[in-house]
Amino acid sequence: MIEALRGPLKLFESTAKCPVCGGESLEVSVYMYFIPYFGNIVMYIYSCGNCGFKSSNVGVLEEGKPKRVIVRVRGEKELRYIVVKPAKASIRIPEVSLEYTPGPYSTGYITTIEGILHEFQEAASIACQHAETPECPKILDWLKRAIEGSVEFTLEMCDYEGTGKIAGEEVVETDVNECGRAES
Ligand SMILES: [Zn+2]
Repeated sequence: MIEALRGPLKLFESTAKCPVCGGESLEVSVYMYFIPYFGNIVMYIYSCGNCGFKSSNVGVLEEGKPKRVIVRVRGEKELRYIVVKPAKASIRIPEVSLEYTPGPYSTGYITTIEGILHEFQEAASIACQHAETPECPKILDWLKRAIEGSVEFTLEMCDYEGTGKIAGEEVVETDVNECGRAES
């Protein structure tokens, strides 16, 4: 019956201790959402009524081990792959030394590989406005062409929670200890 779900289904609500203000005022809502050809996703929405702290996380329903997920992106097809990025997962594009490292309040979310490129583009644009380096035009141009699907690259997600997922033909999962290692 779960396959018939169309929108997020609220599983439960509870109250927990807020990591910012320490009050027992953190509302936790847990939703399940089914994505066709992908599987069941669990979403966690956190909101503190005392200090206003908000966060969210996401993960696949199946229990998994921490893993390194590698995708060889060759064009538009792979750019559309769905990515479940848990809060503690890092993302790296070794060819251009782009890296996203999570902080203590990072959120988890569902996106696509193209969506990740847009995030890198936004971050690079902001960084380059503040400090224009000789690398800036090069990296912004690379990101523009990557979003258009006209460059090949490798995307690495290091999933320390084991609840992340990228689904598609060119996706390879290996040991999380190989994270950051150069591709042979
Ligand atoms: Zn709070």
